[in-house]
Amino acid sequence: METKPLFIVMSAPSGCGKSTLIDMLLQEYPDLEYSISCTTRAPRGHEEDGVDYHFLTVERFRELLAENAFLEYAEVHGNYYGTLRGPIEDVLRVGHSMILDIDVVGAAKVRHFVMCHLPPEDPLRAGYMDVFVNPPSLDELRRRLEGRGTDAPDVIERRLANAEGEMARAGEYMFQVVNDDLHMAYRRLCDLIDVRSGRM
Ligand code: 5GP
Repeated sequence: METKPLFIVMSAPSGCGKSTLIDMLLQEYPDLEYSISCTTRAPRGHEEDGVDYHFLTVERFRELLAENAFLEYAEVHGNYYGTLRGPIEDVLRVGHSMILDIDVVGAAKVRHFVMCHLPPEDPLRAGYMDVFVNPPSLDELRRRLEGRGTDAPDVIERRLANAEGEMARAGEYMFQVVNDDLHMAYRRLCDLIDVRSGRM
C-alpha cells in the first residue's frame, strides 16, 4: 500500500517512557528511521558516534551552522546540539518516515520553521506531525522517577519542575498521548501514525 512519508516530532518529560515508545515504533514500522542529533559534547559511557549522536568538534558544528544545515539547534550546558535537515529530507525522499526525539523548545523551533518557512507541498511540511507524551499525573511521574532509583532527590525535583513547564506547553502539539498504560499509549501512537500516513 502507498503510504505518505511522515516527519514525526515527539516530546515528553523525562520518565514518561518516550524512549521505550520510540523503540517500539521503530520495531513496528520498518520504514521508520530515527533522527540522530549532532552534538559537540563528548560521548558518555557506551555512546557511539553515528548511533547515539553525531559527535562533532565545535569548528565542524559552526561550519554546518554557517551552511544552514540545521533545522534547529540549541546550546545546552555549554554544548551545541542540532538536528540536521539533509538526512530528514533524504529519508522522506525515498518514501520512509523520520522520527525526532526533541524537547519542547527544539520542537517549537522545528514547528515554526516547517509551518512558517516551508511551502505546503514540501515533504517535511506535508508529512509533519508532532506528539506530546504526558505522564498520567505529576504524582505518578514522581513515583516513577523515585522508583527508578537512578536520580538524587534534587535531580528528581528539577526533572519534575521541568516536566511541569513542558506539560504547560503540551497544547502546542497536534496530538497528545497519556502514558498511563504503555500498551495503550503505544496503540494510540500507532493509530495516529496509521491515520496520518494513510494506512488506515
Ligand atoms: P544529553 O547531553 O543528556 O544527551 O542531552 C542534553 C539535552 O540536549 C537534552 O535535553 C536533549 O533533549 C537535548 N538535545 C539532544 N539533541 C538535541 C537536538 O538535536 N536539538 C536540541 N535543541 N536539543 C537536543
